[in-house]
Amino acid sequence: MDESTRLHHPGEKVPVSGIYKCSCGKEHRFANVDVLGHTFPPVPKDCSGIGWHLLTPAHAERSP
Ligand SMILES: [Zn+2]
Repeated sequence: MDESTRLHHPGEKVPVSGIYKCSCGKEHRFANVDVLGHTFPPVPKDCSGIGWHLLTPAHAERSP
């Protein structure tokens, strides 16, 4: 499945480190840079979205 278009619901495991945006279109952001294994947070109170889309993957920027 294409990670760039997939919708991740709050509580789901974060599959890829990076910056996520909500699905409401108001540019709410969620940055998950270095915490693989965590879960997605609920959307903000003023957000009408239902989940998160990957905006900018953070992998490939780091050296082992
Ligand atoms: Zn939102």
